[in-house]
Amino acid sequence: MSDGVKDSGLDIARVIVARRAQIRVRVGLCVVIAIVFQTLTGPVPSLIWAAVYVAAQAAEYVTYRRVTPETVLDRRARLTFFAVMVASNMVFASFGIVEAIYAGSWGIVCAGLLWSGAILNGAIVSGESRLALAASIVPPLLHFMIVPYFVMTHGGSAAIAFAIMLAGLLNGVGAIAIWSAGLNLLRTATRASETARLAMLDPETGLPNRSAVETRFASMPQAAEGTVFVAAIQIDRFAHLRGAIGHALTVDLLREVAARFSRVLDDATVSRLSTATLCVDFVAPDANSALRTAALLQAEMTTPIALGDNRVDVSVKIGLSEPGDAVAHINDLSIVDRATIAVDQARTARLSVARFDPALYGSPGTNLSLMSEMTRALDNGQISLHYQPKTDLRSGKIVGVEALIRWQHPQRGAVRPDLFVQMAEETGHIAGMTAWVLRRAVEDQQALARAGIDVAMSVNWSGVVLNDAMLTEWALNCAREAAGPLCLEITETAIIGNPEIARQTLDRFRAAGLCISIDDYGSGLSSLAYLKNIPADELKIDKAFVMNMAKDPVDVLLVRSAVSLAHSLGLKSVAEGVEDQGSLELLAAMGCDLAQGYLIARPMPLHALMDFMNDRQRKAG
Ligand code: C2E
Ligand code: CA
Repeated sequence: MSDGVKDSGLDIARVIVARRAQIRVRVGLCVVIAIVFQTLTGPVPSLIWAAVYVAAQAAEYVTYRRVTPETVLDRRARLTFFAVMVASNMVFASFGIVEAIYAGSWGIVCAGLLWSGAILNGAIVSGESRLALAASIVPPLLHFMIVPYFVMTHGGSAAIAFAIMLAGLLNGVGAIAIWSAGLNLLRTATRASETARLAMLDPETGLPNRSAVETRFASMPQAAEGTVFVAAIQIDRFAHLRGAIGHALTVDLLREVAARFSRVLDDATVSRLSTATLCVDFVAPDANSALRTAALLQAEMTTPIALGDNRVDVSVKIGLSEPGDAVAHINDLSIVDRATIAVDQARTARLSVARFDPALYGSPGTNLSLMSEMTRALDNGQISLHYQPKTDLRSGKIVGVEALIRWQHPQRGAVRPDLFVQMAEETGHIAGMTAWVLRRAVEDQQALARAGIDVAMSVNWSGVVLNDAMLTEWALNCAREAAGPLCLEITETAIIGNPEIARQTLDRFRAAGLCISIDDYGSGLSSLAYLKNIPADELKIDKAFVMNMAKDPVDVLLVRSAVSLAHSLGLKSVAEGVEDQGSLELLAAMGCDLAQGYLIARPMPLHALMDFMNDRQRKAG
């Protein structure tokens, strides 16, 4: 017996449930048979038979009413049910005997038909269970064996009796053949549908996988009210989490995170796109409301997740996409792909939620050669530096400038620095680019000094290069030639990856007289512990908070607390993104040291900066 047809408690449970569902058919059939055949047998025998059969059905129904398809029956329960089925089928088949006794040779024919029907029915309804098959067809088969007695007593020949017995046996063999063919078909179909089902599931969590999501969105109808948004939700520092709590608990954690999201969105289906990324879709009237929903999803993560004895803090980045942000020239970039890319865009912009930005994504086809083009552009004058002034809020004087890289591409026009700086970070081109920027910035600072303009020069220093020993040496050499104070603006994200080496490098820079500025404070992974541990001189408050100060009192509060935090730690405070007079005055009133932003000046080339500075000096003087 192969494993597939071996009876299990589950197989029998399924037969019980199927028989329960068919009880009306059996009882109805019994009534019809009794009414039709009582014309041959007389009412009393038919009535007695029908009563016994219906009672047997009722008893079976009551005894097994609690069994469900999932009930696992032990061996004893299985054998008991086998006996019940045999008894029930014995009773059914016994009507053939009643017919043979009461209706002469006509009754013998009817008996043969009844048993044949019972055998065929047994083959059809036994499902995957051999036991059920045997219980269904053995009773009528046994009854066939007593036919010769009736044939002979009614004057029939031994040959007729033998022929009927043989017909009965063939009937049984045929029934088994039908059963086994049906079973094979069923198994093939079940295997196919199971394979299809598994192909759509994430094996670890049991959540629908990326294929399932893509298939669903490919055929998703337009939402009646509003727009369908897809949110890709990536768990921060997932590898670190898995290392800390282990694989099994990480799977539990993912399931719990998915359950929380599902609750927020009225039991929406949450899927798993990749190891650390889940996905959910929802309908929102507009993008702002979608962003609010994303914020709700994020808020769900503020309560730690309890896993065994652990309580785990989880934070997420969310990328949103909608049908309308499709990139025209890239057809195979699905809405799910775009939501996933938006997560990366959120991470790069140090935001917790971002909508897919097609402009930022650019054109991947042409981006493939962007880095080699950048290397050439550094030499052929396409890449240059612009400088954005920083003003001292007490004296009103311009005391420093930030060097910002610019690339004027002959075909593409201006390439956004966020795009190629991030690419350079990812592809290992960042060190060469940074070295170029520093050298040019130092040379320009010398040129400014020669023109009588003394300013501190700030250069953006990607955290990724903090453990690049060669670049560090290069920077220390460059710094010796600087015509004034030199400052490195460092973003926080990368430092967290290599805290030890980063710290040593920063200590060396400071020892050499360079100023270290913590860039974009407030966005990304800011933590107080980080501020405590990083050797810095300046805290640069992210423009996201400064730009809205005039409109949002909460931002005023946050900026004020960042300023006082900086001062408490002995750091200078710098606000970037100052766009209006009101914000500038607020910053001055709260004691912020330096301000930078479009209100004071936009980033500009060196010659424009010289004019700007000379102009200011003339006006002041
Ligand atoms: P960042 O370091 O936060 O630089 C400030 C960005 O804010 C600059 O954008 C600047 O033009 C912009 N900005 C300044 N004032 C205002 C304002 O009042 N309102 C608004 N809305 N924006 C303002 P930019 O030049 O596009 O640079 C973007 C990012 O690219 C920089 O962000 C920095 O992370 C990176 N980056 C630029 N140049 C370099 C570089 O030489 N090296 C490295 N590693 N990164 C660079
Ligand atoms: Ca900066």
